[in-house]
Amino acid sequence: MSLETFSYCPRCARPLADRAIKDIEGLVSQRRACTDECGYVQWGNPVPAVGAIVEHEGEIILARNAAWPEGFFALVTGYLEAREDPRRAVVREVKEELGLDVFETNLVGNYIFERKNEVMLCYHVVARGTVTLGNELAEYRRCKPAELRPWKRATGLAVADWMRSRGLAFEWDERPALRAENERT
Ligand SMILES: [Zn+2]
Repeated sequence: MSLETFSYCPRCARPLADRAIKDIEGLVSQRRACTDECGYVQWGNPVPAVGAIVEHEGEIILARNAAWPEGFFALVTGYLEAREDPRRAVVREVKEELGLDVFETNLVGNYIFERKNEVMLCYHVVARGTVTLGNELAEYRRCKPAELRPWKRATGLAVADWMRSRGLAFEWDERPALRAENERT
């Protein structure tokens, strides 16, 4: 989900305009907004999503979304359901996407995914079972934790932090960010 940029107010259908808007702390900034009368302001709040560094039988599982080109692998990610606890969401996503049962979750950190205006809540999870890919994944690969090469954006930064926490040295994957990327799988 990207930053919504409506031309018309989703509440009253009048055209939106750039207006000086005072936020709750009294700071004034330019926002797309409707009339004072309506009060709608397009704040552009980021959308949260979860990401999982999946450990299975001592190895890390990375997945390739069916929409991505060959050779691009990343974390299993997904949006939260309404009112869902992020830990439950990450357990559910790993089950849906990989068919694995998570029995341990450890928060790694929260990372901005600027291009999609999302905040990724990233966990290291330990899972058991047999891998069965969900519809949205084309393939997966396994690698030893020490062989991971993190990428410099969103979920890749979580991989880097997790490796640092384990005392694992790494080299960045310097390939340019995936253009057709849709990190929600
Ligand atoms: Zn309006």
